Amino acid sequence: MLKTMIVGSLPRPTWLAPSGQMYLNWNVEEPKLKEAQDDAVTLVIADQEEAGLDILTDGEQRRRHYISGFTDELEGIDSSRLVKITTRGGRYGQSLVEAARVVGPVRRRGSIMRDAVRFLKTHTNKPIKVTLPGPMTTTDTLADEFYGSRAKLAAALAGQLNEEALELTEAGADIIQFDEPCFNIYLDEVEEWGIRTLEEAAKGVRAKTAVHICYGYGVPIVLNWKTKNTDWSHYHRTLPLLRTSAINMISIECAASGVDPAVVAEAKGKDVMVGVIDVGTEEVETPETVAARIRRVLPYIEPDHLYPCTDCGMIPRSRAAARGKMNALAAGAWLIRSELVKERQQGPLMGVR
Ligand code: ZN
Repeated sequence: MLKTMIVGSLPRPTWLAPSGQMYLNWNVEEPKLKEAQDDAVTLVIADQEEAGLDILTDGEQRRRHYISGFTDELEGIDSSRLVKITTRGGRYGQSLVEAARVVGPVRRRGSIMRDAVRFLKTHTNKPIKVTLPGPMTTTDTLADEFYGSRAKLAAALAGQLNEEALELTEAGADIIQFDEPCFNIYLDEVEEWGIRTLEEAAKGVRAKTAVHICYGYGVPIVLNWKTKNTDWSHYHRTLPLLRTSAINMISIECAASGVDPAVVAEAKGKDVMVGVIDVGTEEVETPETVAARIRRVLPYIEPDHLYPCTDCGMIPRSRAAARGKMNALAAGAWLIRSELVKERQQGPLMGVR
C-alpha cells in the first residue's frame, strides 16, 4: 500500500540541457546525445531508488517536451513552420504560443519510445511507468489544418497513441500514463469525446493505464492562477466520468492547488495517485508535511488504492530540490505506512481485550 512515484519528469543535468527550461535545446550534439541521455537516465534511476520510490520513470530525460517529444515524430505534423495559437483556453493568461501544424493524416513512422523503455526496464528491478501525452491535450497544442474538428484530430491521435502504448507495454512498461491537463479545462469536451478518445488510446493495453490531470508545471503564470482560483467543482464532473471509464488509475494534483482532498472520493474504485509534493517551489517538504497531506485523503480512499505522488513534473526545479522532494515523498509515505501497519496489528488485539 501507499506505493510512491513521481508524475514523470525530473530536471536534466546542466551538461545535458540548460536548467529550468521546458522547451529546450540539448547541450550535447549528435552522435553523443544518446550516450549522454543514457547517462542522465542512469542518474535519475539512482536518485529515485536511493530515495526509496516504488515505481520508477526515466525522468523524461530524453524528451524535449512532453507533447512535442511525441508529435515531432509523427507524419502529418509540420514542426518547422509554426503558427501562433491560443492553448488551454487562454486560462492562465498566457499570450499566443507557437504551435506545430497538422497538415495531413497523423501517423507514426515507427516506435517512438520503445528503446527508451527497454533501457529503463533493463536498468532497474522496480516496476516502471511511461508517460504519453493525452489525445485531448495533444490536440489543444497543435494547429489543425487538416481534420477540421478537435474531436476528429483527437481520435486520430488516440489511434497513434494506442499503437505506441501497446508497443511500450511489450517493451516492459508496467504503467502507461496519459497526461491530460486539459481535462481540468474543457469540461464539455471531456464529456463529449475526451473520455472516449482517452479510452481509445488505452484500448487493449495490458499494462495499468493512468491519466494525469493537473494545472500544468509549477511556473509563475500557472502558480498565479492557482493561488487565485477557489472553484474546484470541475472534479465533480470529470472524476465520476473517469470512475466509470476503462482507465485504471487517476492522478490528481492536491498539494499546492488548494483542491479539496474530499474530491478523491469521486474516484472511488480506481487507483488514485495523489499529489502530495508541491512542484512549484524549491522548498523541500518535511516527511511530516507529506504524511499530513497523505492523511488528509485517507478518509476517502483505501490505502491499497492510494499512490502518493508529486503534483506534476519536476522539470522546472533544481536537481537538489527534486532529490529532496523525492526523499520526502518516500519518507512521508513510510511514516503513514508504519502507522497503518501498527493500527492493523493492534486491531485484533483490541478485540481480544
Ligand atoms: Zn501535470
